[in-house]
Amino acid sequence: ENGVTEEIPALPFPQPAKIQDIHHTKLFINNEWHISSKGRTFPTVNPATGVKICDIQEADKADVDKAVEAAKAAGERSAPWRKMDVSSRGRLLHKLADLIERDRVFLATLETMDTGKPFLQSFFIDLDGSIKTLRYYAGWTDKVHGKTMPVDDSFMSFTKHEPVGVCGAIIPWNFPLLMFMWKMAPALSCGNTVVIKPAEQTPLTALHVGALVKEAGFPPGVVNILPGFGPLAGAALASHMDVDKVAFTGSTAVGQLIKETAARSNLKRVTLELGGKNPCIVFADSDLRLAVEETQKGAFYNQGQCCTAASRVFVEESIHEEFVRLSVASAKSIVTGDPLDPRTSHGPQIDRKQFDKIMELIESGEKEGALLECGGRAVDDTGLFIQPTVFSGVQDHMRIAKEEIFGPVQCIFSFKCLPEVIDRANSTKYGLVAAVFTKDMDRALSVSSALEAGTVWVNCYNALHAQTPFGGYKMSGNGRELGEYALAEYTEVKAITIKLSNIL
Ligand code: NAD
Repeated sequence: ENGVTEEIPALPFPQPAKIQDIHHTKLFINNEWHISSKGRTFPTVNPATGVKICDIQEADKADVDKAVEAAKAAGERSAPWRKMDVSSRGRLLHKLADLIERDRVFLATLETMDTGKPFLQSFFIDLDGSIKTLRYYAGWTDKVHGKTMPVDDSFMSFTKHEPVGVCGAIIPWNFPLLMFMWKMAPALSCGNTVVIKPAEQTPLTALHVGALVKEAGFPPGVVNILPGFGPLAGAALASHMDVDKVAFTGSTAVGQLIKETAARSNLKRVTLELGGKNPCIVFADSDLRLAVEETQKGAFYNQGQCCTAASRVFVEESIHEEFVRLSVASAKSIVTGDPLDPRTSHGPQIDRKQFDKIMELIESGEKEGALLECGGRAVDDTGLFIQPTVFSGVQDHMRIAKEEIFGPVQCIFSFKCLPEVIDRANSTKYGLVAAVFTKDMDRALSVSSALEAGTVWVNCYNALHAQTPFGGYKMSGNGRELGEYALAEYTEVKAITIKLSNIL
């Protein structure tokens, strides 16, 4: 354990549900539960205990074909979903948000069991974000419209925004429910139908939402959920000729594969949310306490398993020593333990593969000469818990400075002047998020403009909102999720041009 002095939320805080049986373990196609066509199942395991939660039906290519066929039929011109009033579509999305809100404690508990993330984080962050995303896009159903444009000669042109069609979504295990909502909500808002493949590590909350989709009254086939593995079910979705768009969050390597597959099949649209090696720049005039708190939250939130992880913290030389001292004290105060205990703020990594990768990178940091200030070890010999880890004296050429660690490891660098730190911050293949800490807003704005990242946070971290677009520059991805910008990813623009014969 890493000490128990961190602030604990005041009572009463929500308590997890007592879950005995998991009801939804099958494939959700056409508003019905199906067993796998190959009769195969796979276990989903609680990473905090190593104990199997239940067996899940495993989708393979034939199941993907069935789900895509259902989604295609549900999106046809004459189908109820396409004929539905846009305001009724918005009400359905609100209804789903209501049901998720009703089952919030249950879903937060399930998410914690499946991912190992602390219960209060599931409850306050994942569930809150999921509900708000659905409500935000429920409000857009009757506001996605085209334009009339002035044109030469005697013509009139206007545009209509139409659904793209069948949208595939491939979801990671770090935010299973939230990433599902980031993809499904804008897709449905624009009138598309969806086929979702949750990550094999974390299928449970998505399947419960399948039951809620049916209860809310969505027509059959509008939402289909296929738990299964990436190379089989994921690849079948990405290469399917009747899938018109695929949205993916996960590793850069798989993102590249999906784009290639999409190009080789039907040139389907692809949006990608991939990795990051996100810089935070802390200037000497910043509120030091706030900068330490926010950058640590950024480094350790969700056990560091975030594409937005604050993995490179550049601190101005004059405050560097003090910053490291405060960061180490803060890291040591984090409460590691049973994620279902509402007092816990740090849980296990998702699985052995991720655990081993992180430990190997920590070892490389030590070998390459970074200073291990605290943490760096497994919490015990058996589990998947890693102590919150702080390195100082990190140099740009080290592996921990360049590779995405996806674990609870904060790397602190020292810098001397502004142009130097901007160049160093930008010298990465990634460009997802960045942060600046300073009280000088003039400097904050010029630094924000100079940073190559899809999001820049000023004096805050991980401040994500349904209204604000999110996505990466460079190899962090293509396209944007959230906000009005995401709607463009889920609509085709049709231009209609009319020849006018009676011009007065
Ligand atoms: P991954 O990219 O393999 O998995 C993400 C999703 O893609 C899962 O649903 C998986 O089943 C699916 N997938 C895997 N192979 C596929 C394929 N060939 N075709 C279609 N879908 C496929 O990620 P991982 O192996 O679980 O984790 C590896 C690394 O990825 C992590 O260490 C981390 O760096 C990164 N990662 C990033 C995010 C993010 O939020 N950007 C999330 C998870 C993992």
